[in-house]
Amino acid sequence: MARVPRRPAALLAVVLAVLTAAAPSPAVPLARAASPVGAGQIVPGSVGRSSLELDAVYRANLKLSWASRAIWVDSTAVITNTSGAEIDRVELNTIAARLGNIRLRPVTVDGVAVRASISGQTILVPLGGVLPVDGVTRIRVRFSARLRSDLEGSDWLFTRTNGIADLYRWLPWVSRRVTFERPNHGDPFVTPTSRDVRVRITTDRRLVLATTGDRVSVSPDGLTQTFAAENVRDFTVTAATDYQTRERVVGSTTVRVWFRPGTRGAAWLDAGADAFAALEERLGPYGYPTFKVVQSAGGAGMESPGLIWIPTGTAAVNLRYLAAHETAHLWFYGIVGSDQVREPFTDEAAADFAARSVLGIHRASRCPAARLDRSIYDYSARCYFETVYIQGGNLLDDARQLMGSDVFWAALRGYVEANRHRLAATSTLLRTLDDATPLDLAGLLFAPRFPRIY
Ligand SMILES: [Zn+2]
Repeated sequence: MARVPRRPAALLAVVLAVLTAAAPSPAVPLARAASPVGAGQIVPGSVGRSSLELDAVYRANLKLSWASRAIWVDSTAVITNTSGAEIDRVELNTIAARLGNIRLRPVTVDGVAVRASISGQTILVPLGGVLPVDGVTRIRVRFSARLRSDLEGSDWLFTRTNGIADLYRWLPWVSRRVTFERPNHGDPFVTPTSRDVRVRITTDRRLVLATTGDRVSVSPDGLTQTFAAENVRDFTVTAATDYQTRERVVGSTTVRVWFRPGTRGAAWLDAGADAFAALEERLGPYGYPTFKVVQSAGGAGMESPGLIWIPTGTAAVNLRYLAAHETAHLWFYGIVGSDQVREPFTDEAAADFAARSVLGIHRASRCPAARLDRSIYDYSARCYFETVYIQGGNLLDDARQLMGSDVFWAALRGYVEANRHRLAATSTLLRTLDDATPLDLAGLLFAPRFPRIY
């Protein structure tokens, strides 16, 4: 993500303090019938282990009431234990649990209700036994929640404000228990890629939807739309009654912008398409059919798989940088995932470096030189950006100058290709660069800034 100075927005002083009781669950059935009760492969026992290394396929129904800001979610994750060891619980991330006043209905595992609990933004799902290696289980999560009506703090991730509904990380996704609160604007998320996601969205009035997926069907009344996505690590939904779109083909990708009347959609499309073209040339094939540039309610610029949010009110002077930074996250976060919590360098430094490279706007940091191997919880609000993004990006640029541009970018393309759809570590990124040159980058550049690694 990237936060740039925004023009003063109208202050919303009124926050709904009282959220009404949960409305009935949607009457839409799952795309696939649930397994018969007890038909799973879970065996008695416990191992005290979960994992991110799971193959999860998601099928979700999302009902969104534009009028009331209420959402109802009925999601099933079909999980194969590809982690190489037994697990007995799954930890699902949804910020509805942190921002949406979630009301969780009984969670089932292979049709059997289990004692799921909520910890911060995590739904902890005990499997009621042990899922063996390569075993398959089906976890169904149903809940209601309510979007915020403001942009304060992190509320912009889950809000309906300025005529736009923003739903970031609403779909309960395999993760690990991660603390949402942090002293800066760091992204408190880590999720593996899913090869197959399908979401059916039903709305109480006709809405134009921009999602991580591509639309595969729409009902005759326009109120139910189904989207599919492959190889994504989240499924963002953004909605407005009056979005307009423009698009342009860049290489083998359609770049499409969603914007509200009064926003300069042509300039936003130019910024997104130009950044995309320049970045794909340096970083290698994007590999998805569409790239979406979407006007969000507000807050910060934000990355999502195949989709970026540019906030309402973004000043023209900031547009090119913000679009380039978020577009670079298509590669560093989207294609190559990383632990955004423990190793923000991996995605933020790489994305910011790449963005500033294509724009030619590298600059010095405004904070003292500091370690680059810390978690988001360890940087102050004042120096998080200046350290991880700016100093981190400048370190990568130092490596480029030492290695030579051609060797450097080829190594970075190799890193992207070797780690496509995986979670990569900072050490993998640094060693990929070091291995591409006879120079000792560890000794010359990296070791003092990454004492945890070297
Ligand atoms: Zn970022």
